[in-house]
Amino acid sequence: MRIVLLGAPGSGKGTQAKLMVDRYGIPQISTGDLLRAAVEAETPLGRQAKAAMDAGQLVSDELVLAMIRERLAQPDTHGGFILDGFPRNLAQAEALDGLLHQLGKPLELALHIHVDHEVLMERMTGRRTCVSCGRVYNVYTSPPKIDGQCDVCGGNLHHRADDNEETIGNRLRVYELQTTPVIDYYADQGKLRTVEGVGEIGDIFQAVSRVVDSVKEQQAAAAEAEPSAVTLEDLEKKVATFRQAWEEQPALPVEGQPAGEQAEAAPAPAKKKKAAAKKKAAAKKKPAAKKKKAIAKKKAAKKKAAKKKKAAAKKKPAAKKKKAAAKKKPAARKKKVGAKKKAPGKKKKPVGKKKPAAKRKKVAGKKKRTAARKKRR
Ligand SMILES: [Zn+2]
Repeated sequence: MRIVLLGAPGSGKGTQAKLMVDRYGIPQISTGDLLRAAVEAETPLGRQAKAAMDAGQLVSDELVLAMIRERLAQPDTHGGFILDGFPRNLAQAEALDGLLHQLGKPLELALHIHVDHEVLMERMTGRRTCVSCGRVYNVYTSPPKIDGQCDVCGGNLHHRADDNEETIGNRLRVYELQTTPVIDYYADQGKLRTVEGVGEIGDIFQAVSRVVDSVKEQQAAAAEAEPSAVTLEDLEKKVATFRQAWEEQPALPVEGQPAGEQAEAAPAPAKKKKAAAKKKAAAKKKPAAKKKKAIAKKKAAKKKAAKKKKAAAKKKPAAKKKKAAAKKKPAARKKKVGAKKKAPGKKKKPVGKKKPAAKRKKVAGKKKRTAARKKRR
């Protein structure tokens, strides 16, 4: 299970991460630890990070991502991982998705340990540490028997200067400001699950385990429901069918222009690209489970459509076929024709050849996705 753990400072997500490591046998990848280890080991990335820190700069996202990439190359992560401390903002979340998709290891769960702001404030501002033995108390949730004195050794309890309300309040506000979009981002993908991080550690962990187990079950069910792998041959047949259908589409007649020229008219490639990009973006937003379903649905729909076409071809005379095809044309095409009317002076290059190129791109994308899916299995 590939998990990102989200939670404010003081939410107890570190404790939950350690319990998850024990139960699920997957490593916790804390970007803070990665950074320290890389600097200590003086790896190339570690040296770069140290240079940045010595110069008083933040370690760049690229550098942290490179460290995560290195870490994910190690075999103990093959069964999954719990990423902790990253991403902290939307840009990082998007960059992480990019990396994980590249590696064929997309995220499966964004687990958010939620704790109310007021509770976090109490937890963090109430902290007291024994100066002699290091034992930690909280004046609100686990106070010492005698005020200001350690139960174990009788040492003085110290209130750290940066544990004051202003500093902690600022820290929490920054955290919330940056991570709220991250939480929305994973919610949009359908990957977000939230657990209330209040109460006994064991009870919280039970809730965490229920979430992880249910996501695991869902994925197992989805994998079973997924149709068997599509062969390259199948794919090429489909492509050929689509290509034929596309080329057979008659052009819309436009006033004052011979039909032949019409057919050669160039569809504005920029517009097409934009539309394709939009589609891609939309597809990205869909959660994985939905995507799978959508793909299955599309497949079924295609099959149906093909059957219908065959049947229709047998029945309909040629003239009717044309009408039907014209009706099917997307609105975008019609619009372009309209736009052209306004600027009749412009010369059009015959770009009939560009059409298949655009299609090829689509097909390549499909192949890639299919390959990626195969890889994941
Ligand atoms: Zn003590």
